[in-house]
Amino acid sequence: MLPQMSESDKPAGEVRLLADAMLGKLAKWLRLLGYDTTYNSAWDDTTIVRLARAEGRVVLTRDRALSERRGVRALLISSDWLEEQMAQIMNELHLPPGVAGSRCSVCNAPLEPIAKAEVEGRVPPYVLRTQEVFHRCPHCDKIYWPGGHWARMQPVMTRLRREEKT
Ligand SMILES: [Zn+2]
Repeated sequence: MLPQMSESDKPAGEVRLLADAMLGKLAKWLRLLGYDTTYNSAWDDTTIVRLARAEGRVVLTRDRALSERRGVRALLISSDWLEEQMAQIMNELHLPPGVAGSRCSVCNAPLEPIAKAEVEGRVPPYVLRTQEVFHRCPHCDKIYWPGGHWARMQPVMTRLRREEKT
C-alpha cells in the first residue's frame, strides 16, 4: 500500500473553522494557535451555514440543531470547558499542529513580522527588554510576542497533545 498523507501532515493553514456565537473564547484560542477561525456573535444560524458552505469551513457549535443541518460539516461541541473543547476538536478533527504566532486572536488575520525598533513605545518596557521577535496584525494593529498569550497557552496545549496520544 502506498504511504498516504494523513490529515495531521497538512499545514494548519488548510484547516478552516467557524465558531458559533457561544464559542467566542474558543475561537480566540484557535486563532492564537494559528487555525483559521471565523467568529461573529451577531451571525445567526442561516448566516453561519451559508458562510461555512461558501468558505469550506467546519462549524463548531454547542447547538445540536445547528450541528445537524444538512449540507454543512459541523462538530457538536460537548463541553462548556475550554480545555475539553480543545481536546475534542483535536481528537475529532485531527487538527495538524498549529503555528502559534501566525494569526490575530481578535480578527483572525494572518500576522506580519515587525522589527523590534518599530514596537518601541507600543509594548511594555519589560517586554522590549526581554523579547526579540514581534508580530503585528495588519488589520487591527495589535502587537504580538512569544512571551505574551502564547506562553500562557503552551502548558495547556502540551497537556492536550499528550492526552491525545494516549
Ligand atoms: Zn487583529
